[in-house]
Amino acid sequence: MINIILCGAPGCGKGTQSDFIVEKYGLTHLSTGDLMRKEIASGSELGKTILSYTGQGHLVPDDVTLSILEKHIESLPADTKGLIFDGFPRTLNQAVQLERLMKKRGDKTAILIDINVPEDEIIRRLLERGKTSGRADDNLETIKERLVVYHDQTRPVDDYYELMDKYVRIQGLGTISEIFGRICRVLDKIYK
Ligand code: AMP
Repeated sequence: MINIILCGAPGCGKGTQSDFIVEKYGLTHLSTGDLMRKEIASGSELGKTILSYTGQGHLVPDDVTLSILEKHIESLPADTKGLIFDGFPRTLNQAVQLERLMKKRGDKTAILIDINVPEDEIIRRLLERGKTSGRADDNLETIKERLVVYHDQTRPVDDYYELMDKYVRIQGLGTISEIFGRICRVLDKIYK
């Protein structure tokens, strides 16, 4: 599998853009946030533990995140063309573990696309989403915490991929189709 990583602050549009990428390039969307919410909705003990982190805007510990992710990857159909990692990796350790897993499986991550959106716009979008998302973490206090976590723990992931020449930053402002166009210019070189 040749995979890509969509990265950027919460609310930068990763989920929206993933839907378009799935349709055009036949990739499979893998959102660790969705996997966490599914586990929470199942009412399991693990779900309760996860909620104690997500509800506060904190990251779920790496060992929990990685085991959920690995289990999901193993359950994918053998003919899966490639994955869009959305919301993963979010720490340097997750990135190192992901690269290790890819190597073990004979897969690769081709590029990390960083969707760049200014912070005031991020807060505006997430507050707007919170009116209808039903998500416990789309409120001002938690949004601010998620942004701190993003800057402190997730930004180093960008540097890690930049060092491997697998980093590209795109402008995340504009219409959804303008942003998708920028992503396509990157992906067309990978999925010829
Ligand atoms: P998202 O839907 O990607 O915004 O994720 C929602 C929440 O799930 C995050 O704020 C974290 O609490 C948790 N989460 C999602 N992905 C990860 C990850 N890769 N590592 C740790 N926590 C995560």
